[in-house]
Formats: sequence, structure tokens, C-alpha cells
Amino acid sequence: NSNNGSSKDKVLNVGTEATFAPFEYQQKGKIVGFDVDLLNAVAKQAGYKISIKNTGWDAMLAGLQNKELDVGMAGITINDERKKSYDFSNPYFESKSMIVFKKGTNIKTAKDLIGKKVGVQNGTTGQFTAESILGKNSNKISKYETSALCFTALKSGDVDAVVTDNAVALQYVKNNPNSNLETVTDKSFKSEYYGIAFPKNSDLKAKFDKALTKVMDNGEYAKIYKKWFNK
Ligand code: GLN
Repeated sequence: NSNNGSSKDKVLNVGTEATFAPFEYQQKGKIVGFDVDLLNAVAKQAGYKISIKNTGWDAMLAGLQNKELDVGMAGITINDERKKSYDFSNPYFESKSMIVFKKGTNIKTAKDLIGKKVGVQNGTTGQFTAESILGKNSNKISKYETSALCFTALKSGDVDAVVTDNAVALQYVKNNPNSNLETVTDKSFKSEYYGIAFPKNSDLKAKFDKALTKVMDNGEYAKIYKKWFNK
């Protein structure tokens, strides 16, 4: 599973968590989304093919650490803690935490989450944001394996609110108009930046950074952005 020799036509093993629309989700048995299109464009530019599997979040990170995966692509926020275990491409998307809840729940700012049950995806920045408000060991925070399970819990009333990334929150609300959901952000929520993840010291980082720059400069990125965000 090394990247020695010619990169021509080499197929990279990519892990993802495919319940994170519009970045990656399943449609008719295929994984599609902004990340998938962007990764295809960047990999092609760098001379690689990709094979994406819905490993789930934890297995994706484990697969990068033991180098069974070549790439992790899942709206992964670049942060200092993660940089100790993985390499990241240059940033490709700006994000922020957002709170999703049923209309009628009294949530206007982050502080209003105090006393409420909050669902997050385990090990994600949504969890870290919720912990910064409710406390690290708060028993009011329920952790789920996938983003989809957070929203299922919100629908069923197991939690009062979900904290996730803004684009994903807005997409979910849009896709579920009958669920009567609302979103709120908070000025304390800081900008985060998504990166493509690689095993530590992978030679792919430099190649993908170069290719990403190309894809941003040649209009491909803008085309993909328009396709998924319609602007
Ligand atoms: N951007 C968030 C993080 O990296 C969430 C990613 C995800 O749930 N796929 O923690």
C-alpha cells in the first residue's frame, strides 16, 4: 500500500463518513457530494484514481493512522490536535458550528443550550463546540456515530438540539421541510477549515496541494461549488 514508483493510474483508498450531505452522502448506492467531486478533480489533476468507501468516521481516522487508507475526505476540520496524527492538504472549505432544533425550542444563542439535551457526532468539532458550552463531561451531551444518527435523535425527541457544521445543518433543514426545524449560530463559534487528510508523512500531501491550487485556479473548484451550493 505504498505510493512508490509511478503514480500513473494508481488507485487511492479513500475513507469517508457518508451521512454528511452536501459533502458526502449515499445516493442510489453511490457516494456523492461536494467532497467527492472535489477529490475526483484534485486526484485526477495529481494523476491518481480514487476508490471511496463509507468506512465511518472512527474507522476512517484509524485507517489513516495505520496507513490502510491513503486519504480521508469527510469535511474534516484541520486542527492542531489532529495535525499530530494526520497530514492535511491546504484548506478547501470554510465552516462553522451551527445549532439545529425544533421550532418552539427556546434557543437564541449558544448559552440557551445549557440545560438542554444536545446531540453531536462523536469526535467531531460539533462535539467540541457543545463541550465548550456545556462542559467536557456533561451528561447532557449525547454522542452518535454518524451525522445521520444525530438528526434521527433530534426528530424523535431524544435530544433537543444538534450541533454540527453549518452547511450540513442548513442542507438538512432544507431537505426536511416538514420537520419544522430551525438553526441558529453564535458569534463565539469560530471559523474552521476543511482539509483532505493523509497518513502522517504521506508524499500525497505535496502532490495534492499542488493539484488543489490548480483546481482552484482553473475554475473547476468554482464549478463544483456552484453545483452543490448553487451560488
Ligand atoms: N468538520 C467536523 C469535524 O471535522 C465534522 C466532520 C464530519 O462530521 N464529517 O469534526
